[in-house]
Amino acid sequence: MDFTIPKRAQEFLPRVEAIVREKLQPIELSVLHGGFNAALPQLRDIRNHVKEMGLWAPHLPAVLGGMGLPLVEHGMMSEALGHSPLGHFVFGCPAPDAGNMEILHKFGTEAQKETWLAPLAAGDLRSCFSMTEPENAGSNPTRMSCTAVLDGDEWVINGHKWFTTAADGAAFAIVMAVTNPKAQRHGQASMLIVPTDSPGYELVRNIPIMGDPGEGWASHGEIWYRDVRVPKENLLGTQGAAFAIAQERLGPGRIHHCMRWLGICERALSMMCARAAERELGSIRGTSRPLANQQIIQSWIAESRASINAARLTVLQAAWKIQNEGFYAAREEISLIKFYVADIMMTVVDRAIQVHGALGITSDTVLAYYYAHERGARIYDGPDEVHKMVVARRMLKEYGVTRS
Ligand SMILES: Cc1cc2nc3c(=O)[nH]c(=O)nc-3n(C[C@H](O)[C@H](O)[C@H](O)COP(=O)(O)OP(=O)(O)OC[C@H]3O[C@@H](n4cnc5c(N)ncnc54)[C@H](O)[C@@H]3O)c2cc1C
Repeated sequence: MDFTIPKRAQEFLPRVEAIVREKLQPIELSVLHGGFNAALPQLRDIRNHVKEMGLWAPHLPAVLGGMGLPLVEHGMMSEALGHSPLGHFVFGCPAPDAGNMEILHKFGTEAQKETWLAPLAAGDLRSCFSMTEPENAGSNPTRMSCTAVLDGDEWVINGHKWFTTAADGAAFAIVMAVTNPKAQRHGQASMLIVPTDSPGYELVRNIPIMGDPGEGWASHGEIWYRDVRVPKENLLGTQGAAFAIAQERLGPGRIHHCMRWLGICERALSMMCARAAERELGSIRGTSRPLANQQIIQSWIAESRASINAARLTVLQAAWKIQNEGFYAAREEISLIKFYVADIMMTVVDRAIQVHGALGITSDTVLAYYYAHERGARIYDGPDEVHKMVVARRMLKEYGVTRS
């Protein structure tokens, strides 16, 4: 494996970092606390600047206006964007839009691409992804109550979904619904494109996350689909292919997430160091005593650095393997990085909060936002426990332990 930063990344990374540092970090608290919708004109201006700089949509090919980065370079960019909660949105690759663009690009018909993918790729509209249901365990999504039944030339969708990220203000949802309950477990569900102005679509609420319901892209919706009708052409891919398509967005999506989490780690660690250096605990015989002189703080800083460095190499190795050998060859690494990096992120953010004392739990720094809103990392995209089980089972197979 090559440990040098690819030439192209050496060129674009400093430019990305400068925009995040100079344009996003100074406004992020007012956007997060003042409301996403009110900030949209300001965010659109920065998006235009990003486009002019040729840094828009790292995950998309040039024909769709993107940078067309290979996965390793995209991972590096995702880390740089993770230094602000606004990074991915402003650079045109926010979840869940990025994943939706990827599957529309790969599985969409020409008409679907023209109607939905083109404006999504341009950042002219937003989308959401509706799979999880409050009544069913999301960690086993093959158990699903939402149905789509073909009636003449239309699919009729009925179901209750929640944690549909960014549903508030989205123009369409990609909905997973059972279309053939008699098929084998992974062939029962299909994906359907549902415009959110369809009769019967109801965004019930933005679900409060630790007290914060959020707004617009920065929210998670509860939705009812009641006799929602869409043309049969709104099927994405083939009937029964929902899990196969979902699998496609899994590998790249995991790299984007884990590298974003490492960006959060780096931001929290730099805040930890800066605070430790500037915070005076008093002086002894005229010599100042900054918090940074305490060994326990130094230990947290050093341990955080070691964990982040190790995690970055692990994620980039997974990205490199997907890029060179494909998703299937890398499936163990794809599970492994999920729980490994999420855990490191929570530990580093928690240490940074502790070093900031009471300030750390206020909304006066970005740390409390990360603490509340990134806690979900250990739950979404498959809970940590499931991924640990996957990795251990594969390893134990070699020792003759079979699935119980
Ligand atoms: C911030 C956030 C954003 C999300 N965005 C979306 C979205 O855009 N679209 C969407 O459809 N969904 C979304 N989700 C939902 C997410 O996919 C589910 O929350 C996740 O799949 C877990 O399902 P669940 O919440 O029903 O937990 P459950 O399935 O009820 O699991 C609860 C807990 O049980 C444990 N557990 C589960 N299975 C096992 C096992 N096999 N072994 C041991 N322990 C186990 C885990 O600790 C798990 O946390 C989002 C969730 C969060 C938190």
